Amino acid sequence: MAKLLRGFRDLFETEAQKLTKVERISRDIFKIYGVNELRLPTLELKEIFIKATGQTTDIVQKEMYAFEDGGGRLVAMRPEGTPGVARAYIENNFQANPVQKFFYIGNMFRAERPQAGRYREFEQIGVEYIGNASPAADAEVILMLKAIFDKLGVKNYKVKINSIGCKECRPKFREDLIKFFTLQKDSLCEKCQTRLEVNPLRVLDCKIDGPKFTQSAPKQVLCPSCQKHFDEVKKYLEGKVPFEVDPCLVRGLDYYTKTVFEFQADIAGAQNALAAGGRYDDLIASMGGPKVPAVGWALGAERVALASTFEEIKTKKVFVVSVEESSNSYAFNLLQDLRDNGFTAEGGLFDKNLKAQMKQANKIGADFAIIIGGNEVAKNTLLLKNLNSGKQKEIVYQDLFTALKEEK
Ligand SMILES: [Zn+2]
Ligand SMILES: [Zn+2]
Repeated sequence: MAKLLRGFRDLFETEAQKLTKVERISRDIFKIYGVNELRLPTLELKEIFIKATGQTTDIVQKEMYAFEDGGGRLVAMRPEGTPGVARAYIENNFQANPVQKFFYIGNMFRAERPQAGRYREFEQIGVEYIGNASPAADAEVILMLKAIFDKLGVKNYKVKINSIGCKECRPKFREDLIKFFTLQKDSLCEKCQTRLEVNPLRVLDCKIDGPKFTQSAPKQVLCPSCQKHFDEVKKYLEGKVPFEVDPCLVRGLDYYTKTVFEFQADIAGAQNALAAGGRYDDLIASMGGPKVPAVGWALGAERVALASTFEEIKTKKVFVVSVEESSNSYAFNLLQDLRDNGFTAEGGLFDKNLKAQMKQANKIGADFAIIIGGNEVAKNTLLLKNLNSGKQKEIVYQDLFTALKEEK
């Protein structure tokens, strides 16, 4: 029997509508901020993700859908959006225009162990602001994300920010962490014991070990340039969005430099990261491109949809019913006429009887039924029934649109 793959799912009705709403509102905000769409392939060479996401990350080590294609190439389904953007930037010579903002909307794939609320295919909406080294760019992308959350009615979300330094000041922090955690090795979880040497920053945001060492772990000492950058980001955000500085916020990806941030909110009683991002000034150069600064984020569309409370303005629905074969084409023309005039109209079940058509009208939650028979065709009239009040009246065709607008 036809069956879904484990960790995947079908989305329909409310769930699908909510995702579309998150996409639409994001697009509205992107337009205001001058962000252009970038549509990227789902499949890329595996090495792109190894280079960008980082050899030592969980994503690359065990979560990628990677395989050899028919031509012997090692390929991978994208686990995140940024590496593809960086690859496209280099390949299409986007640096000809030195400052650019891109957004993408697309499905990502990670072969994580399936668990509640986590799927192996999920949608991310992301922004990459490339070519602006100013802390104003960090603040701008954070405020862009805030605008989306606000417009979607996400309640009580928290914004956490941190700076993880740069090539100059991060290695020292890394060494300090390795030294510190090596002494505590026995009390670390299994995962952290193995990643301690390769990615000690990850121990800080481990769900098990992170909270234990929040206070005692060595703190990042930023170089003067990183410190100045971070202070300015905070200054730009002050008064525009409430945020807290969290020294343990490190992000799981290798490419971040300086600013990192996360938007968290409550879903079903648990604190969740709904969106996250940061600055990645060295990534594009490390992939063979020009040395160009960049900052961006990605939001998990499904989680944001769960946390949003935005209500659609309900549009009135009209259902056109034809009761006789002789009235079918009059009814069909009316149905199209309604749509051409911007009304949400359904109908056309002309092989069914009156009762069955009315049943469908109720099933889809129509507000009005327009009922037409041979009699109405002869007089150029129709029967307009308000399905909420049950009242009906006969009106001439020409008065229909006015009548529907008045009833709204
Ligand atoms: Zn630095
Ligand atoms: Zn751990």
